[in-house]
Amino acid sequence: MENEKTTRRLIALLFVMALAAARLTACTSPAPTATPLSPAVTRVPPTATPMPSTATATLPTATPEPTGPDQPTLSVTYTCNDGFIISSGGKKVLVDALFQEARCGCQSSAEEGAALKAAQPPFDSVDLILISHSHEDHFAPQIVGTYLQNNTKAELIAMESVVSELQQQFTGFDQVQERVRSVQLGDGQSVQLTVQGIDLEIISAPADVPNLGFLIQIGGLTLFHTGDSGNSPEMVALFQSYHLPDKHIDLAFVPWWYLGDERDHPLVEEGIQAQNYVPMHFAGDDAVWMFEAVPTYYPQAILFREELQTWTFAPPQR
Ligand SMILES: [Zn+2]
Repeated sequence: MENEKTTRRLIALLFVMALAAARLTACTSPAPTATPLSPAVTRVPPTATPMPSTATATLPTATPEPTGPDQPTLSVTYTCNDGFIISSGGKKVLVDALFQEARCGCQSSAEEGAALKAAQPPFDSVDLILISHSHEDHFAPQIVGTYLQNNTKAELIAMESVVSELQQQFTGFDQVQERVRSVQLGDGQSVQLTVQGIDLEIISAPADVPNLGFLIQIGGLTLFHTGDSGNSPEMVALFQSYHLPDKHIDLAFVPWWYLGDERDHPLVEEGIQAQNYVPMHFAGDDAVWMFEAVPTYYPQAILFREELQTWTFAPPQR
């Protein structure tokens, strides 16, 4: 009995350490070196958790058929960390997906890296690229620049620091710069843009660094990607100042500790109030902590277990 108590205490301690590490590092932290001792900690999400409907860890050979405007189905593919490919209503958006995966515990193959730079499936036909901030687990200038050269219709909207790094480090910048727009927002500021027929509201959602959050209208749905937004108590009021709870967000992509740590629940319960959540900012081994913590509180959260896994969503008619 005493042993069991000690084990549980140790697990709780490891969990808190993992949370702290995940919050402190730019790249997702590696899992603690100690092996969890209890069968309560498992890499496999509980069966009650709805899993993405399509599970494929290999590169798709062709782009999925784009859905028409009368079929508001959403397709979301997880790439790694905060990176997603989002398709709906014949539009395709990449968020925080163009970076050096190997440095952040991501598993992606050389084949995937080549497809990414070459704008080949599943990274082809993208209309809009969004980048929340310039950290290396969200953005790599050479990959973004090469991608823009290989997909000549894609437009990039990004934090000002991202664009200035791209300008300084990518020699072909002058060939792509007309499709690049930088956004610089002060505290509490937001801006509305329409790019490639996609309506966006971009908000300042800082953590220890300036960071953009993106509200994306696509296929008749409202999506919110927080980037690396912070989790201080002030963030709840900041989210509310943008009236996020009134925007009827269908799907929000949030740092996994927003869902997996009780202390952060006001951020989602009072600040965002989305219909569905995708936890993000995990890669490699520390996913074990995410899979343990998030379903405990949010069994309906949409968990991506593999990179390049795709989940499709047909929202109820409203
Ligand atoms: Zn990050």
